[in-house]
Amino acid sequence: MVRKLKGIAAAPGVAIAPIVQFHSTLDQIPTFKLRPDLFEAEKHRLSDSIAAVTEGLLGLQRELAGTIAHQDARIFDAQLAIVHDPTFRKDVEAEIDNGVNLEAAFQRVIARYESVFAGMENPAMRERAADLRDIGRQLVEASMTKERKKYTADGRDYVFAADEFLPSDAGILDRSHLRGIVTAHGGKYSHGAILSRSLGIPAVVGIEGIMDAPTGTEVIVDGDAGVVILDPSDEELQHYRRLQNEQRAVEKRLAEIRLQPSVTLDGVQVDLLANAESVHDMADFEAEEVAGIGLFRTEFAFMERRQFPTEDEQVAMYRQAMERAGGKPVTFRTLDVGGDKPLGYFRMPEERNPVLGWRGIRLCLDWPDILYTQMRAVLRAGALGHARILLPMVTGRSEVVRCREVLDQLIEDLRSTGVDHDSDIELGVMVEVPVMVPVLPDVLPLVDFLSIGTNDLVQYMLAVDRDNQRVAKMYDPFHPGILRTLKQIVDHATAAGKRVSVCGEIAGDHWFTPILVGLGIRELSMAPVFLRRVKLMLRSFTEVECRNLAERAAGMSSTRAVRQLVEEEIQVRWSRFLGATEGSET
Ligand code: PEP
Ligand code: MG
Repeated sequence: MVRKLKGIAAAPGVAIAPIVQFHSTLDQIPTFKLRPDLFEAEKHRLSDSIAAVTEGLLGLQRELAGTIAHQDARIFDAQLAIVHDPTFRKDVEAEIDNGVNLEAAFQRVIARYESVFAGMENPAMRERAADLRDIGRQLVEASMTKERKKYTADGRDYVFAADEFLPSDAGILDRSHLRGIVTAHGGKYSHGAILSRSLGIPAVVGIEGIMDAPTGTEVIVDGDAGVVILDPSDEELQHYRRLQNEQRAVEKRLAEIRLQPSVTLDGVQVDLLANAESVHDMADFEAEEVAGIGLFRTEFAFMERRQFPTEDEQVAMYRQAMERAGGKPVTFRTLDVGGDKPLGYFRMPEERNPVLGWRGIRLCLDWPDILYTQMRAVLRAGALGHARILLPMVTGRSEVVRCREVLDQLIEDLRSTGVDHDSDIELGVMVEVPVMVPVLPDVLPLVDFLSIGTNDLVQYMLAVDRDNQRVAKMYDPFHPGILRTLKQIVDHATAAGKRVSVCGEIAGDHWFTPILVGLGIRELSMAPVFLRRVKLMLRSFTEVECRNLAERAAGMSSTRAVRQLVEEEIQVRWSRFLGATEGSET
């Protein structure tokens, strides 16, 4: 077996620990003894799971009707017959009556049936065993999507290995012992990668062959080079332990500038803010290091739950986030689900092109209840601190007009009913769909600020799926066309006298810092793990140097040329800094 696997570097740092494979939810079927007073509730869950699987099978059957042969479409009839077989239901209920929880009951009954079929002489009947396994998997998944169980590492460090790291996985993992993330799929800008960076966990994604390494295999995850080494040799371990130590030394050096102002060499202030995915991730958040939360991706908190949070629950959550931010502004982005961020309890249609589909603000405007509740909650929470509202995936003025109307109506309702709220809340829009750029003069009068979502903006401008590793090489934000577009956005915002920040991943990429500053950006919001590197870079250039660099870069005719220029200009300073660190350590 190949020991050195190459993938995409998704989150920096080195991890050394054994891997734990998470094949699917089925590997973690919860088994526990039910209390008799829960038997009835468990039987309701049984009905719900059967209903969900039936719906799924019928949908699949309809979808495939014109595509596969008629007799093949009947395999779903066979599966439906099993799900609706009264004996099957009785057998599962009998297990529940013996105190077995639903998922384990499914597993037991299916295994019993399966062994009967598998032992039959008739090959056609033996085939039915596979049908049973399939139906068992669907039922267990249907029951577990409502109640995912936590993985406990029993105090041992581990590296998460899976086909993909999905945002909702973060909710079920024992994060205190999670040292690294390795996956077979995913790209540098997928939400799983963003999440690993924001959790500060080294990650490599898109690794062919990683699923073949069994649980327990010792690995080195090199999140900077995008390499995973299985069963490392003593020399490799030694090398990477040294690297870990060096990184700690760099971190120590970076810690020295922790509370120094975020200014260029000639004193131009650039506000550094943090991106946050949930209140838990803000646990060791250092409010004094940042100017606030520039992007709170509220959808992650929604994804960790089993159903939509109520207005009061949301108020409590947003207040907590604001408290942790120490009174500094917190920018709550309204629910941005859809695309690669599904909500388990909100059925979304199968889409051929989810990234171009029903997501972000378009979904919320079609289901205004979601938007009303969330905006009301932010307005109420805002009474006790500094909250802002940010709208994702906006494509033009009319969507902003509708959101403004909702907001104004809610403010009026809260005022007339005497509920505390922030009546002057700032409203901003993400600039992440390219068509927004030319229409900014129409949109800007309606908003207080812009936030550039370069992750999606780059994806849509270059027509490269940010989650598809096959085209990942083409996803390059240093493309001169992207740089020129960023400049146009800044110019529009400046002309309208409105603030503009960058909250996509390039805001935390220190190679990008001088260019962004040179393009006129004065607010950068990033995963906290990058704050100090970016600040160091900022403190190494004058504003004029940044401007010259940005102008030259944006005027180049290829991405490669831009990268070369950046390397020449930045590497020197960065290596000088690293050299100084090593020197100071010895
Ligand atoms: C972006 O698109 O740049 C962004 C910040 O939003 P998300 O990554 O959550 O889509
Ligand atoms: Mg986005």
